[in-house]
Amino acid sequence: QPHTSGWQSQDSAHHLHPFTDYKALNAKGSRIITHAEGCYIWDSEGNKILDGMAGLWCVNIGYGRKELADAAYAQMQELPYYNNFFQCSTPPAVELSALLAELTPPQFKHVFFTGSGSESNDTVLRMVRYYWKLKGKPYKKIIIARDNAYHGSTVAGASLSGMKAMHAQGDLPIPGIAHIEQPYHFGVAPEMDVNEFGLRAARALERKIDELGECNVAAFIAEPIQGAGGVIVPPDSYWPEIKRICAERDILLVADEVITGFGRLGTWFGSQHYGIEPDLMAIAKGLSSGYQPIGGVLVGDKVADVLIGEGGEFFHGFTYSGHPVAAAVAATNLRILRDERIIERAAEDVSPYLQRRWRELADHPLVGEARGVGMVAALELVKSKSPREDFAPAGKVGTLCRDICVENGLVMRAVRDTMIISPPLVLSREQVDELIEKATRSLDQAATRLGE
Ligand code: PLP
Repeated sequence: QPHTSGWQSQDSAHHLHPFTDYKALNAKGSRIITHAEGCYIWDSEGNKILDGMAGLWCVNIGYGRKELADAAYAQMQELPYYNNFFQCSTPPAVELSALLAELTPPQFKHVFFTGSGSESNDTVLRMVRYYWKLKGKPYKKIIIARDNAYHGSTVAGASLSGMKAMHAQGDLPIPGIAHIEQPYHFGVAPEMDVNEFGLRAARALERKIDELGECNVAAFIAEPIQGAGGVIVPPDSYWPEIKRICAERDILLVADEVITGFGRLGTWFGSQHYGIEPDLMAIAKGLSSGYQPIGGVLVGDKVADVLIGEGGEFFHGFTYSGHPVAAAVAATNLRILRDERIIERAAEDVSPYLQRRWRELADHPLVGEARGVGMVAALELVKSKSPREDFAPAGKVGTLCRDICVENGLVMRAVRDTMIISPPLVLSREQVDELIEKATRSLDQAATRLGE
């Protein structure tokens, strides 16, 4: 057991946590996670917890892969840092770029490295505007995103995000960003035919382009499945219609694959699951399975040809773009995902089992909808199923349920009253059973506490 006395008080005294209610943290103290193995994490009080969220949707390969630690150690001894600016490169950055070209859809032969998903989306914004300037259309600047999207916490990332609370705190979005509705069938129009609803939600993009003027719109950005917005699975009709609109209107299509990249939906990229064929893809998280902070923008030929052919210098980059240690770890992670067929094996076996068992939870009195794709899923908690009544105020029951889950040894995330899982791709069938058993017990206990 590590020495833990005083950690919680020091944490409250000195550490300003991201996305944390400070009053609640100070009242309860933080949970200090000390180590992890496979799909489990341990806290400083010795509790073993099944990590249903793979950290923050990122530890796709599972915890404790020694090969990744060895890659970091070896690279730190060889060359702990050098930059990729000014015509320099390093072997890990070269190797990772080539691996990404091998593992991504054929239009992606180039990658621009960043340190995180937020930086990737900042890079997207800079890159699409620069692209249109190079094409002689400098007025094409506006990027259309979606309500409730999450694209990061930097100023551009938070502006592209569609979260009203983030906008309100930071006086965002910055100019040149517009939002349209999300394809949230259960939340918006559950009585409507699902594919009709999907078409209606997609055509909001067309209406917005008309409103803003096609000549002013640079790009549309979206997550294949909205993650932090509540695992919003789009109707089947949604993405083909978006694809049609982007192709007919002269705008770039950007997929934010920060969550859906590297196997989450059962294909290497979420775009492949939905047949999206984007011009750019933002990546991070699963690129290194979270073992090192690294992200990137995968640049399709349409944009790369212009940047390389006509661009000159792109005045953009980060000290840690293509960091050699992070790149070495990411390359090792990708080789393991590829050679052990982790994504394909999860898609063939454990994810159909997980999705089938997950949908059994829809019978629980607290659950209005159970949905998911591949290795991501959500439960919508409701006060009453029929007639449908949501909990008020929104979020209280989700938080209660999340806390009970942790008491029962399971991490689930609460987005308002939606309970989410996004476990490591190496979850076993036995661990699916454990997850469902703990989730069911937690829902039962939440229902009892609500009735008291
Ligand atoms: N894009 C999506 C879809 C995300 O889910 C996230 C983080 O959760 C980000 C971007 C931001 O990534 P980061 O936290 O690495 O900056």
